[in-house]
Amino acid sequence: MDFGDSPEEADFRRRLRDWLRDNNPGLPASSTSDAYWAGQAPWHQALYDAGFFGMSWPKDIGGQGLPSVYEVIVDAELARAGAPPRPSLGYLVVGIGHHASDDVKQRFLPGLVNGRDRWCQGFSEPDAGSDLASLRTRAELDGDEYVITGHKVWTSYSDAADWCLLLARTDPDVPKHRGLSAFAVPMRQPGIEQRPLKMINGVTREFGEVLFDGARVPAANMIGQPGEGWRLAMTVVSHEREPGELGYVARYSKVVSELGRQVKADPGKFGPEQVRDLGWAMIEAEMLRLHVSRRLSDRMDGISHGPEGSVDKLLMTAVEQAVGHAALSVGGTPHGDGDDMWLKVYLYSRAQSVMGGTSQIQRNLVASRILGLPAS
Ligand SMILES: Cc1cc2nc3c(=O)[nH]c(=O)nc-3n(C[C@H](O)[C@H](O)[C@H](O)COP(=O)(O)OP(=O)(O)OC[C@H]3O[C@@H](n4cnc5c(N)ncnc54)[C@H](O)[C@@H]3O)c2cc1C
Repeated sequence: MDFGDSPEEADFRRRLRDWLRDNNPGLPASSTSDAYWAGQAPWHQALYDAGFFGMSWPKDIGGQGLPSVYEVIVDAELARAGAPPRPSLGYLVVGIGHHASDDVKQRFLPGLVNGRDRWCQGFSEPDAGSDLASLRTRAELDGDEYVITGHKVWTSYSDAADWCLLLARTDPDVPKHRGLSAFAVPMRQPGIEQRPLKMINGVTREFGEVLFDGARVPAANMIGQPGEGWRLAMTVVSHEREPGELGYVARYSKVVSELGRQVKADPGKFGPEQVRDLGWAMIEAEMLRLHVSRRLSDRMDGISHGPEGSVDKLLMTAVEQAVGHAALSVGGTPHGDGDDMWLKVYLYSRAQSVMGGTSQIQRNLVASRILGLPAS
């Protein structure tokens, strides 16, 4: 594939570059503060309103129906400008888009894409993370509504969410994978309590636990058919594992560029080990950028990937943790009341081997579904 810009792509790149000059919100390099999360909704809406978000999604849900290469251009320009990455919700759009009826898609996807409706993903529970099919949250039919009872945890953005893509058990009498259904649940109602969880890097607003005690959702808000929840969950997590969907490439490039500027500004301050750590992180970030470009190129050729998402997730984890290590090595830890942003970048990077499915689970999937090895 030729990665050079066509005239239309070059024009788009120029417009985005100009726009970013005046509209970069100057948020931190990573999830290091509550301000970063508070800034997500306005950033999403500003990008969308200016025509720089949802480039490759269908027009009828608010996307622009353009080839995926436009997403690559957006990521590259955001990284170049030191702007935050594009909001990562492609996996929700794909999950709902693949499984929902046309009516449900039209009701929910435009607000998700344009950023006016905030969403969270209610899959994990205290006793069901890696073994998601064991989840115990129940949804019981009562007239034309389902009544929900249960406990979700590690639910990112739950404090700010208007809607939850919830996975719940609708049939306890069939094998566990087949008894799950998915719903679009309105978060602001009696019967839902959101409790924030403080992260090791001090962020208090990124995620929480959500308790459902008699919350109600119209049966018409089911995504797909009864019992289709497991298949929807697999669609969601396989896309959640693709770095191209998440726009993280821009985030990693932004961090390593900022660290690179620090080293260039005062080279004598840094020893060979620090320079080596940064060099390695830069190579890893560039490797991921090229890998994502290759995946998008495959997609444009009509090649879709399945379990390879696990390989991508493992690569992305290695990159995020190399970048986090460089942040700590070069940026250092503060003394007294000094700025601890780089320490927070490092701490957040540790979560990448857990969120969206742990590294051990990805290796199990690579072993069984790609290499064809027997289950142990
Ligand atoms: C920052 C962050 C954001 C998140 N956001 C969300 C969200 O928005 N929505 C949501 O639903 N969830 C979210 N999660 C939860 C995440 O999906 C789970 O933490 C993850 O799936 C692991 O589940 P668990 O925490 O229950 O760990 P467990 O499943 O209990 O695993 C504990 C350990 O045992 C290992 N293990 C478990 N089973 C196996 C096995 N079969 N073979 C080998 N090793 C195994 C795991 O790898 C891990 O090391 C988030 C997590 C993080 C860290």
